[in-house]
Amino acid sequence: MTTLTRADWEQRAQQLKIEGRAFVNGEYTAAASGQTFECISPVDGRLLAHIASCDEADAQRAVENARATFDSGVWSRMAPAKRKATLIRFAGLLKQNVEELALLETLDMGKPIGDSSTIDIPGAANALAWNGEAIDKVYDEVAATPHDQLGLVTREPVGVVAAIVPWNFPLLMACWKLGPALATGNSVILKPSEKSPLTAIRIAQLALDAGIPAGVLNVLPGFGHTVGKALALHMDVDTLVFTGSTKIAKQLMVYAGESNMKRVWLEAGGKSPNIVFADAPDLKAAAEAAASAIAFNQGEVCTAGSRLLVERSIKDQFLPMVLEALKAWKPGNPLDPATTVGALVDTQQLNTVLGYIESAHTDGAKLLVGGKRILEETGGTYVEPTIFDGVNNAMRIAKEEIFGPVLSVITFDTVEEAIAIANDTPYGLAAGVWTADISKAHRTAKALRAGSVWVNQYDGGDMTAPFGGFKQSGNGRDKSLHALDKYTELKATWIKL
Ligand code: NAD
Ligand code: MN
Repeated sequence: MTTLTRADWEQRAQQLKIEGRAFVNGEYTAAASGQTFECISPVDGRLLAHIASCDEADAQRAVENARATFDSGVWSRMAPAKRKATLIRFAGLLKQNVEELALLETLDMGKPIGDSSTIDIPGAANALAWNGEAIDKVYDEVAATPHDQLGLVTREPVGVVAAIVPWNFPLLMACWKLGPALATGNSVILKPSEKSPLTAIRIAQLALDAGIPAGVLNVLPGFGHTVGKALALHMDVDTLVFTGSTKIAKQLMVYAGESNMKRVWLEAGGKSPNIVFADAPDLKAAAEAAASAIAFNQGEVCTAGSRLLVERSIKDQFLPMVLEALKAWKPGNPLDPATTVGALVDTQQLNTVLGYIESAHTDGAKLLVGGKRILEETGGTYVEPTIFDGVNNAMRIAKEEIFGPVLSVITFDTVEEAIAIANDTPYGLAAGVWTADISKAHRTAKALRAGSVWVNQYDGGDMTAPFGGFKQSGNGRDKSLHALDKYTELKATWIKL
């Protein structure tokens, strides 16, 4: 898709003018306090920008503004077909600016430019367009009332939506929320992660350029415990949507309970099992998928296949194939289009991942490959994709979400044992199953307590299917028409005839 070289990207990076201010009521603005924080690139430690550090005062102003805009009807009462056209224009502007947005994403959080330019930004644009395209094709209902009554079941936008999102797919996760939230007519306050605010800040202007009225999309960069908390506790935010860790997800439910009982929809962490049965139809494909499931996006993926469950009878044959496949995943400079694994998002995440690797050694797991920080001389935060064998499900690396390229291999003997190990986790986001036996595939898929199950592939899916978690991986769903539920209230209107 892109023919730019590393030198081209580097040159563009030098010329970038990076906006670091908040966006409220259609204008870029400093934080009310005047405070900023530094945006440091994990690629090589370079300083990218100073970012507005928003807090309660900014949240207050943005919510007031979003409420007034919502009440004005300028967006909330616009004909769905017009909102559709506007969202499609917005998506088009993301695509037109794909190189700039991809570069911002890569510099900000370290993922390969090949991924940000072909997966993240196009995916974000698609999420906007898909929801726009859908919104003039969904119908309300008429209830089965007695003859002298008319019962209307209609959907209304909830009002003011706060969206708090993570750093691993910064713009993509934001647009999984913005698409349905805007399509249904809400006003939105987007709070990007303090680790990856640049693309969210940039697209606020593109939204305005596309014709989304001022005040409909506001962006408040800043920290979770300041502006994030202020939004979550705000008495006039109707709905809070979140993607991030389970720890913070639980905290947001508390904030909602302590404030106005705002609806809270959570996409949280995972520790997803990828089960390879001896009768897998194509072990090479399974091995390649197992490698990408832990190395893609530096393992910073909520659905990372971080527990590889392998049937004992094929283990000696299969693991060398995984090691071979992992050779395609080598950390390198994220601005090089050939790079498949970039930098971890920051030094804090680097230390977290290295700490888990250390715990695996202490717990007696057997290192097969990787295990070290590399390319330290670049000033960036790179870790080798790492595989531990001899892991049992009680070890920390098997229980806790690492959010880095560290794979735990767990061996099993029977289908029942595989299912039991797979489900022995507080998470339930995704799972993989590899078998040529169609009945076993269905039985296993049904038994797995996870929101997405992939059979003879890993990490499939597009906008057409819902995405989200069972158990402590969250509630509600992103993507598909089901996502619209989170951004609307149902109203029953009874008319006596
Ligand atoms: P995080 O929970 O640390 O932060 C997420 C967001 O919450 C950030 O914007 C942060 O500033 C904000 N936040 C932090 N403390 C807050 C508080 N007290 N009040 C309000 N907001 C607060 O998560 P992260 O490290 O940014 O992202 C990684 C996590 O996201 C992983 O657990 C991963 O599994 C999860 N994730 C889930 C999905 C999914 O769809 N289920 C997708 C991507 C990432
Ligand atoms: Mn960053």
